Formats: sequence, C-alpha cells, structure tokens
Amino acid sequence: MPELVEVETTKRDLSKLIIGRRINKVEVYLDKIVYNEKQKFIKDVTGKDVLDVKRRGKWLIFELNDKYLIIHFRMEGRFYYLDKNAKVDKHDYVVFYFDNFSLHYNDPRLFGKMQVINKEDYDKFFMDKKLGLEYDDTRLTSSYLKEKFKKHHTQIKKLLLDQSIITGIGNIYADEILFKSKINPKAYADKISKNKLQSIIDNTKLVFEESLKHKGTYPNIDGKRGTFEKYLKVHMREGKACYVCGKTILKIKVGSRGTYYCPGCQKM
Ligand SMILES: [Zn+2]
Repeated sequence: MPELVEVETTKRDLSKLIIGRRINKVEVYLDKIVYNEKQKFIKDVTGKDVLDVKRRGKWLIFELNDKYLIIHFRMEGRFYYLDKNAKVDKHDYVVFYFDNFSLHYNDPRLFGKMQVINKEDYDKFFMDKKLGLEYDDTRLTSSYLKEKFKKHHTQIKKLLLDQSIITGIGNIYADEILFKSKINPKAYADKISKNKLQSIIDNTKLVFEESLKHKGTYPNIDGKRGTFEKYLKVHMREGKACYVCGKTILKIKVGSRGTYYCPGCQKM
C-alpha cells in the first residue's frame, strides 16, 4: 500500500516533471475513480498549468491555476509517465497528456480517488480528514505526544497508526520506528517517558528519511520499485536474527495488525 514515503517520492519525482507544464488533455476511462461529475472534472483540468505539487498525509495535490486536484492512491493506485503516444494499459483509468509525455493513473484494485476542489475549500477539505501533525512539523514535540497519549491507555503501536496524532505512519514504518526507539509495540502509550517519546519523534524522521533515500517500497513513476525493503530491521524478518542483539525477531498481532519486534531490544 502506498504510504507517506511513497506519496512523497511520487511528489518529488513529479515536481521535476510537471511543475510549470500544461495539461493539454485528460482522458477518464473509469468514472468511479473521479469523485466529481466526469465532464466537469475534464473541463476543470484541461488547459490548466500545474503550479505546484504538494503532499498532505497520504494525499497528493496538484495546484492548478484556479483549482486543486487531489489524489489518494488507497490500496494500489500509482502514477507512471510514458511517451505521449504510449498505449493505455487496461488498469490505467485516468491519463493526463502534457506536451511530450503522458501521466497515467493506474489502479488495479480501483480504490483510489481523485477530486477537483476550489482553492478556498482546501483548508476545510483537510480539516475534515482530522489529520495529525506531519513527521517534520516543528509542533511535533514530546509534550505534544505526552498530551495526546495520556488520554489513551492503549498499546503504542496502535496509536502510531492513528492518523489523527502523527499522520502518515503505516504498518511497516511503525514497526521500524519502535525497534529503533527500543520500545515494545505492546507497551502502553500513556506510560512512556518523555525521553522515549522524543526518541519516537527522532526515529520517525530517521526512518522516513532513510526510506525516502531509497524511494520507499513501491513502484515509482519510472516503474522501478523503491529498495527500502532491503534495509528493514524487523518488519518481515520473523525468525531471523536481530542485527543489534542476535535474538530472533518475533511476529505477533497488535490490534489486527501483524507486528514484528525484537524481544531482546524491545523489552516490556
Ligand atoms: Zn535485538
């Protein structure tokens, strides 16, 4: 599933390609991917310049002249770019045509969505999603987490996945962040010290930045898969030896999610 890192990678790659370029034509091959009425969507996007590409949580945003085009990949959506005369794949549901290339939105599982909104509705759109702070927001401090966590006698892993506290942490990243912070995924969030909360914040940045360096774990706009999987310390390493202490990595369930941890490094 595309997570924050994958969306951020797409944002960075697309920025170099489409900022300042005009969308000459758009084809919608499946109406349900587009939230707006199809003809209105096409009219709102055609002939518009891309002024900027942004990300908020797992949403990707194209700033157009007078609108925002907002995209959520959900389970398997992604963009890739090709020559402008390239063949349209059966799972390409929306194709944007620029001067000399085309940008294909591909989504075999059909869960993704795109939507055009007016510029004045932008803040409200994200307010309604109740997103927490971004990992690199300066307001993300140990005091912020202490305040949020004290209301929840809940296992820390579940709260890291709660998008209303820190936005963008998915299952892979929660396991890696807790390993680096030496915190057991079943530890109760309201009992974690401020120093440990600070290490969660620091390690969230470290893990995201390392993953961004390797372009995540997912196929990117050039079709090449990111290589961060090779660098995972605990996630998907059940039965293998911990790189730090040599103990065997275990897999358990926390909430409904498969969770990997080292019993040596992440004691209760
Ligand atoms: Zn270990």
